[in-house]
Amino acid sequence: MLSIVATPIGNLEDITLRAINVLSNADLVLAEDTRVTKVLLDRYNIKKEILSYHQYSGFKKIDHIIELLKRGKNLALVTDAGTPGINDPGNYLVSEALRAVPNLKIVPIPGPNAAIAALSISGFPKDSFVFLGFPPHKKGRQTFFKKISEIDSIIVFYESKHRILKALENLEKFSKIGDKQMVIARELTKQFETIYRGTLAEIKPRLTDKNLLGEFVVVINKK
Ligand code: SAM
Repeated sequence: MLSIVATPIGNLEDITLRAINVLSNADLVLAEDTRVTKVLLDRYNIKKEILSYHQYSGFKKIDHIIELLKRGKNLALVTDAGTPGINDPGNYLVSEALRAVPNLKIVPIPGPNAAIAALSISGFPKDSFVFLGFPPHKKGRQTFFKKISEIDSIIVFYESKHRILKALENLEKFSKIGDKQMVIARELTKQFETIYRGTLAEIKPRLTDKNLLGEFVVVINKK
């Protein structure tokens, strides 16, 4: 069995009882960064072997994990934050594991996700939205932002502290969002959680350099 376990996006208390149970009962925890996961497991006094599994893990590592699954081991996959596979490692392992062991039981253990958390406090109608993940760093970035102007729906995307200002400039230049309302959610669930609301023109000056630490979710309303 392979459990895909969502973990906190900042505040370590954001974990479900089921996630704690599953992690406590797993034979092995697969983690994107073993140090990050160790902090979480220590917080809940879960003593488990942790094996690193990240986007650069080679075929040998995947073969080893598949071998463990074939032997009936009970594995739990976590990433550094939120729901595994949503813009972090996990998808490839799930698809490879399914290919190798077609009747494998893969169980979702739902929990935090940064995009959904940001949407939940946006106040925008959420019956439908488009999630775009991260804008490309270089090639395709302009196209990403141009496409935004064609999407007639609520848009959500992730951006890092290194490129959030650039993203706002790109939105201004290529996306023609005009005076659509936006929410930029920074450091959700953490000590310096900040929610910026308003139009692009209103928010941009507030994201001064000193605010730029942290992780960001950008939400743009429909109209
Ligand atoms: N799997 C994660 C999830 O379920 O949300 C997303 C992983 S992705 C590698 C990391 C990005 O998610 C960050 O760069 C940021 O855009 C967003 N993110 C994660 N945690 C966040 C937080 N606490 N506050 C705001 N954005 C966050």
